[in-house]
Amino acid sequence: EAKRVPGLSVRLADAGYVRGSGASLQAEQALRAGLHNEEFLLVFQPKVAADDGRLTGFEALVRWQRPGVGIVSPADFIPAAERTGLIGALGALILDKACAQIAAWLAADEPVVPVAVNVSPLQLLDPDFAGLVARSMALHRVPPQFLTIEITETAAATHLDQARERIGEFRALGLHVALDDFGAGVSSLNILRSLPLQTVKIDRLLIDPMPAADAQAVVRAVCQLARALQLKVVAEGVETAPQAEAARDVGCDEFQGYFFSRPLPAADAVAWLRRSRLAAPVPD
Ligand code: C2E
Ligand code: MG
Ligand code: MG
Ligand code: MG
Repeated sequence: EAKRVPGLSVRLADAGYVRGSGASLQAEQALRAGLHNEEFLLVFQPKVAADDGRLTGFEALVRWQRPGVGIVSPADFIPAAERTGLIGALGALILDKACAQIAAWLAADEPVVPVAVNVSPLQLLDPDFAGLVARSMALHRVPPQFLTIEITETAAATHLDQARERIGEFRALGLHVALDDFGAGVSSLNILRSLPLQTVKIDRLLIDPMPAADAQAVVRAVCQLARALQLKVVAEGVETAPQAEAARDVGCDEFQGYFFSRPLPAADAVAWLRRSRLAAPVPD
């Protein structure tokens, strides 16, 4: 069966990503219904600067608001979306929603910060994916400095050549690219030097045990490496003040985590934007 998903131009069946099973058929039907009924939304988690706590960006995170079920987290449906090939349509929708939100904030004259969108390894394999991003930005008239792409370490390591190609295309569009979940997978240091990245996000796995001395030693080493390669470092999953303090001490540039804010609906995220305008120095 040759499946073609809108927004994804590789034939997933040919690529071996479509497997038929009762469970995945059910998941596929539920996901299709969810896409059709517009049950997916984005929430936005602030990232803040380690030195002064100013807002530096948001990460857009998808949620599935399933009638009769409640809010479903991406860990519970992204794998099914990948298995069934629907990640193409879902990923296109997520990009569209992120661009639409940035455009809405710009139109409302809010002090917009970059919004990071997560991409699935399968989206990286789509030779037209950068084209899709470009079309979404053009449709909503989003300037490239407001959009960041997050690629997981595992995706980059598994598909290094495709990752390099896609990231090159994103860079040509003027987008920033962050390596996500660094240190959680099979960390290949080669990735850091061989991909044109701007940011490394250190996984919660390494941040969680802080301020333990051994964890600090590891994160410090990653920060030193990143600095030598001129990469910005974000500490993910910061939940406590001692973790934040240790992360700052060992050289992380930015924080993201529940200690600062949970992921927020757009209406609440805008309060962060407004507060950041108040905190900004008044021009004369
Ligand atoms: P991620 O990209 O590493 O996103 C960070 C995850 O950590 C988010 O989980 C966020 O809510 C959670 N988090 C943030 N701060 C803390 C903290 O202080 N403590 C703890 N325990 N967790 C924290 P979420 O939203 O459930 O997303 C999970 C993963 O699902 C993401 O990990 C990402 O890989 C994937 N994902 C989320 N949204 C998308 C999307 O739009 N597209 C794709 N392809 N994947 C997505
Ligand atoms: Mg991410
Ligand atoms: Mg992450
Ligand atoms: Mg993660």
